[in-house]
Amino acid sequence: MTSSQLMEREAQLLCPTYARYPLAVAWAEGMDLYTPEGERYTDLLSGIAVCALGHCHPEVTAAICAQAGTVVHVSNLLYHEAQLVLAEKLLATAPGMERAFFCNSGAEANEGAIKLARRFMREVRGQDRFRIITLAGSFHGRTLATLTATGQDKVKIGFGPLPEGFTTVPFGDADALAAAMDEHTAAVLVEPIQGEGGVRPLPADYAAAMQRLCRERGVLLICDEIQTGMGRTGHFWAYQGLGLTPDIITIAKGIAGGLPMGAVLTTAQIAQGFPAGSHGTTFGGNALVSRVAATVLDIIERDGLVARAARLGTWLKERLQAVAQKHPGRIQEVRGAGLMVGIELTTPGKAVWQELLARRYLVNLTQETVLRLLPPLIVDESHLEGFCTALEEALAATSA
Ligand SMILES: *Cc1c(COP(=O)(O)O)cnc(C)c1O
Repeated sequence: MTSSQLMEREAQLLCPTYARYPLAVAWAEGMDLYTPEGERYTDLLSGIAVCALGHCHPEVTAAICAQAGTVVHVSNLLYHEAQLVLAEKLLATAPGMERAFFCNSGAEANEGAIKLARRFMREVRGQDRFRIITLAGSFHGRTLATLTATGQDKVKIGFGPLPEGFTTVPFGDADALAAAMDEHTAAVLVEPIQGEGGVRPLPADYAAAMQRLCRERGVLLICDEIQTGMGRTGHFWAYQGLGLTPDIITIAKGIAGGLPMGAVLTTAQIAQGFPAGSHGTTFGGNALVSRVAATVLDIIERDGLVARAARLGTWLKERLQAVAQKHPGRIQEVRGAGLMVGIELTTPGKAVWQELLARRYLVNLTQETVLRLLPPLIVDESHLEGFCTALEEALAATSA
């Protein structure tokens, strides 16, 4: 099918949930996406931080094939080794975390974390704590509980009645957070760097106050590392860059090289909130996806991709500051950490984004004014330099 045939047929076949970019992909390799017509695009979005090793990494492909010919799925009624191998490797990246639960997506990981926090409070601590506090501008998923947790009204329209027990507080306001905590508060759920919300890092002093308040008030701290995790920010987990000590972390997106997977990590004590039969999933952590995720982790470590993300991110930010200086009045701020970068424009960015796409660079536009870059961790300076040149051209092409 040609690109235009694909775009026409979709409306007859699929629910219209996605406002898709005008780009169809027939195959992909490394940093590149190819249209059915054979045009090449440089992918600086990685399927929204999912394909951390780029597309069709040969070792990931080999792991998929090998496991597909061994055992794909046996359900969580049976023991299988791949899940344990993965859990061991994953827990080693997050000192203090002692138990893993595997699921299939980010929303499901957050849903699991919310359930775990509530059940731990009630059944293990014997306290009637259920309320979950989240921040304005946050994004935590699309299930009923996680869209209620999300601090953006647009994801909630038409879906009520919403579950009870969620409070959203203003971003960066420690007093508001303190005021929102009471004897029914179970947890604060927070992205160390808001992704969907426009690449907004938690200010360091606010993060420290959040940690202190959670400790003092007996409230769990849940870090949503779904977008920030797996080395992207130059730390394996972004909370490590902020000096936080979460009680629970949630993971998805980049964990399994493009296969759907989510995970919840926590301490042995809190994991008592999930006794046998209390929570579960049919597909979660099946042999195929676990094997592939373990391979992804091995490669990130072997190839030093976390330190590389830090180094390239510093380089890119400096380069983008230079672009901002050359085009005064166009770029409000360059934010982020490592290879999670937001370029906030001074005006809505659709036209700039379109000019970048026309120059065959794929990035995301979030919150209307923020160009978001989430490139594969295998990106190199040449791709980023090419992007900066394209960005300068796009800014020039759209100047008033
Ligand atoms: C993408 C994302 C989610 C939701 O993940 P899904 O796999 O789409 O359910 C939750 N939290 C954050 C921070 C995300 O970026």
